[in-house]
Amino acid sequence: MINKLALSLVFGLLFATASAQVDLSYYLPTGVTYNQAIPTPASVIGHEVGEWHVHHDRLVNYMMALDKASDRISLEIIGQTYESRPLLLLTITSPKNHQNIESIRKQHLSLSDAANSASLSISSMPAVYYLGCSIHGNEPSGANAGLVMAYHLAAAQGPEIEKYLENTIILFDPSFNPDGLSRFAAWANSRKSKLISPDPNDMEHNEAWPGGRFNHYWFDLNRDWMVAQLPESQARVRKFQEWRPNLLTDHHEQGTNASFFFMPGEPTRVHPMTPEKNQELTRKMGEYHAKALDQIGSLYFTQEGYDDFYYGKGSTYPDAQGAVGILFEQASSRGHAQESVNGILRFPFTIRNHVVTMMSSLKAVNEMREELLSYQRDFYKTSLPEAAKDPVRAYVFTSRDKARVYHLAEILQRQQIEMYRPASALTFNGKTYDTETSIIVPTSQAQYRLLKGMFGRITQFKDSLFYDISSWTLPLAFGVDYEEVKTPVVTGTRIQNIQPPVGKIIGDKGSYAYAFETYGYYSPRALYRLVSHGIRTKVATSAFFHPSGKKFEAGSIVVSLDNQDKNPDQIEVYIREIAERDGIDIYAFNTGLDYRGVSLGSSSFQLVRKPEIAMLVDGGGFTGVSPTDAGEIWHLLDQRFNIPLTCMPVAVFNSANINRYTTIILPAGGYGTISEAAKEKLKLWVQQGGVIIGFEQALNWLTGSGLGKFDMRKDEEKKDAAKPKPYADIADAVGAQETSGAIIEGNIDITNPLFYGYYNTTMPMFKSNNLFMEKSKGAYANPLTYGGSPLMSGYISKINYAKLKNTSGLGVSAVGRGRVIGFTEDLAFRAYWFGTNKVLLNAIFYGSFLSPEMAR
Ligand SMILES: [Zn+2]
Repeated sequence: MINKLALSLVFGLLFATASAQVDLSYYLPTGVTYNQAIPTPASVIGHEVGEWHVHHDRLVNYMMALDKASDRISLEIIGQTYESRPLLLLTITSPKNHQNIESIRKQHLSLSDAANSASLSISSMPAVYYLGCSIHGNEPSGANAGLVMAYHLAAAQGPEIEKYLENTIILFDPSFNPDGLSRFAAWANSRKSKLISPDPNDMEHNEAWPGGRFNHYWFDLNRDWMVAQLPESQARVRKFQEWRPNLLTDHHEQGTNASFFFMPGEPTRVHPMTPEKNQELTRKMGEYHAKALDQIGSLYFTQEGYDDFYYGKGSTYPDAQGAVGILFEQASSRGHAQESVNGILRFPFTIRNHVVTMMSSLKAVNEMREELLSYQRDFYKTSLPEAAKDPVRAYVFTSRDKARVYHLAEILQRQQIEMYRPASALTFNGKTYDTETSIIVPTSQAQYRLLKGMFGRITQFKDSLFYDISSWTLPLAFGVDYEEVKTPVVTGTRIQNIQPPVGKIIGDKGSYAYAFETYGYYSPRALYRLVSHGIRTKVATSAFFHPSGKKFEAGSIVVSLDNQDKNPDQIEVYIREIAERDGIDIYAFNTGLDYRGVSLGSSSFQLVRKPEIAMLVDGGGFTGVSPTDAGEIWHLLDQRFNIPLTCMPVAVFNSANINRYTTIILPAGGYGTISEAAKEKLKLWVQQGGVIIGFEQALNWLTGSGLGKFDMRKDEEKKDAAKPKPYADIADAVGAQETSGAIIEGNIDITNPLFYGYYNTTMPMFKSNNLFMEKSKGAYANPLTYGGSPLMSGYISKINYAKLKNTSGLGVSAVGRGRVIGFTEDLAFRAYWFGTNKVLLNAIFYGSFLSPEMAR
């Protein structure tokens, strides 16, 4: 009753005054005095917290001002975003701790070293609390609350704060995603009326595509903690590993009609490698948050909706490392004020809930300090005994593609996972793991649980609903040859600092031609390097041999020195770049004669043309192109392969002349805003030789537009009335039919140009939709199929699994001289699915000459 009363009072006060300003005291606890020498946020950022959405540059100015004014704070720039914004980290603790910070850090790290942790005196050690804000840029209440929290930590006076600072090292990141925060702040501020409009139809509340959630390339940074492919995550993970905190709080927003969520999440959806004690500590902390929110009358919920399953999220990643990760989700005003089922939700109100739970987290970490420190020590003490129970003794992996091996190893290195070169060559299941390129990762090591979380396969689940993907087994995502070794293995030398591969030129200087295989990850970059400089370059469609006897399979690239506009010395410059920068071995030829395969002048070598690529983006609101799917492709071509592309909004496409492009990519999403005239224009363009590459739901649009035949399997018609079920089961039953990221095995035809550069006849694929494409009748029409038991890891419902079996993952339609290539799966998922990337690049380079015999 008291709570309800308090609640109505708060709501009454807050919501009655539509344009009332709040001042700083609204956010701060009562009865605390503040040091006048510390600047308030408003004195630096130029407005009161919550009056406007803070711009990142002003937030940086404020944090720098605090650093200058307070001996409790030391600020570091730990990295830079793609848009060149600094990534800040403030270390906040007592001045005395600051003087010994390096020895405190080293001592803290010993908690995760079982050999040395027993002698640590936990009663005198500070706890480490990592506090991070607004990893989703359009969930800004976290970052804006960070201004208040940083002020409080710098300026509050009295025994309580002194004690907290003495007993805690706070690693404070005021903005996990500066580029996204800036995008959203610019949106909301520039559309704010003097008379704030809470009407959900107002422009302020209807962000333009792609929205501020994502980073520069439209990645969701809160899926990247484990694989850390993006600069924001790399900087952050480095810091996390430097300290191994005890608590990490991650401050987000959710839908406008929700209230406030704090962890624990759904009890049945905790990753099996996370100890039960972690959830117990999470629940205990929950009591602190509940008490703080009860006091101000804020509505909240816990143990539903969100989960602790995917280790790529900020609130789950710490759980695999002896820490406790807590997710906070505040209902979003998505702008300065918005109508909701709970009344008008104002920006300051959303900020205050985060301030309050930042404070309750600080209190909890202090009162639970020894328990948290002991838990982390025990967690690492039990790593080796837990690993000893695991039948898997080690993982070993290799590939003909040294770059993919390198990038996978780089992830392990970043997460402080020990790796070795085998002492001698090993053979498992007919595959040889040599001593030069293979890597052994023993399970018996401190980071066992995280390693298992990264490499393990799971097909049995307690629950059938997932907040995010159900599987991410890294060796499958990288498409490397690997083995779960169940017998004792002898590890060779420890790998201390993995280096990217460097190629060489074999056979001295070529006087006739150069050739290279395309197993290397960066072979598309090498190919583009050549064709973009006007060097006539061909791809082999039959095998040929180097005079030394070395066999080159179809898919290998050849550059002859005759018939070129550039002289041999100029060409050699690019050849050396390929060896050095793309990590590829190149063979020099002094003759074109080959009686074993085809000679170099054979017409079986196909000329590769420089692609001119456009990718459709936007498409009007959020029913258009998926920002994350488009962003993955943009990032892949732009950052990894140095291949330019035009990201073309659908509205522009509708009226643009598209004749300059050879290739148009339609990422997953909806294309309902493409005009009839533009559809006809696209059809004509394909007939004249253009290549469309479409993904997932785009295939339905292509089929509906007469631009290809990508028939999807339909639901079987129900003959009888369904068995009655309780209404209460509906939500779970519908959710259980979602395929939210499972790994399935594709069977591929490696002689098809779309699979050039691959040597295994199976390929793990990432599936996160319920599109099941019927096989086509043609003998050459199904180069990627799924067999009778394709599930490798993750969850798919029985009904959908039955539909997936014996379907096709790829289809090609011939339209005049052009081709429409459709994939049911994402080939560039979240920047870490390295294994399937080249298929997309093959479609770009070789799509135009695919035989019409393979058309559907
Ligand atoms: Zn979020």
